[in-house]
Amino acid sequence: MSIANRITEIQKTLPQEVTLVAVSKTKPNEDLMEAYNAGQRIFGENKIQEMSEKYESMPKDIEWNMIGHVQSNKVKFMAPYVALIHGVDSLKLLKEIDKQAAKNDRVIPCLLQVFIADEETKFGFDATELSEIFNSDVLEKYKNIIVQGLMGMATFTDDQQQVAQEFSTLKKLYDQYAEANNLTILSMGMSGDYQLAIANGSTMVRIGSNIFGSR
Ligand SMILES: *Cc1c(COP(=O)(O)O)cnc(C)c1O
Repeated sequence: MSIANRITEIQKTLPQEVTLVAVSKTKPNEDLMEAYNAGQRIFGENKIQEMSEKYESMPKDIEWNMIGHVQSNKVKFMAPYVALIHGVDSLKLLKEIDKQAAKNDRVIPCLLQVFIADEETKFGFDATELSEIFNSDVLEKYKNIIVQGLMGMATFTDDQQQVAQEFSTLKKLYDQYAEANNLTILSMGMSGDYQLAIANGSTMVRIGSNIFGSR
């Protein structure tokens, strides 16, 4: 099946309120253009340099989403154009995004990454830190960022029950803060687990290999 067909097939299965981020990391521009020509406008990348190169050479109505771990010293390279940063996992990073956004006269939408997996390698805030952030005025200090929601990654495991449990934990945290903080995005679910994520309340799925093939 072609990339265009795969995008169309996936779009058909998504509820209307769920946004598809096509994760195009490592893939060449031709592959992204196939998705673009099938109507896809939101692309996810995990390396700032690669994303910037693609931004330079591809149509300007694409919304570039940074889904990977971000190093503070590289924020400046994407600040002029990035549409949404999913993986904000420290206040230091939030502060730097605010600073670079201000320099570009922009307000940059961000998601706070929450640690839900049973793994050492995944980044993010825990429930206590999240509570401290939302119950303080730190977010109000930053005029050039807007926190629009939460993002999480489940454990890489075949145990569907565990994955469902982790998504449900994140959804509960989201519900706890959504209304008071005007959160509208719950970014969870990848190729292997997005149906489970949607069943547990995801509003944004990040799908790579199911669209572009394995990396
Ligand atoms: C690579 C990546 C994805 C997409 O993974 P697939 O399994 O290829 O769908 C989603 N989210 C993040 C954070 C990623 O790094």
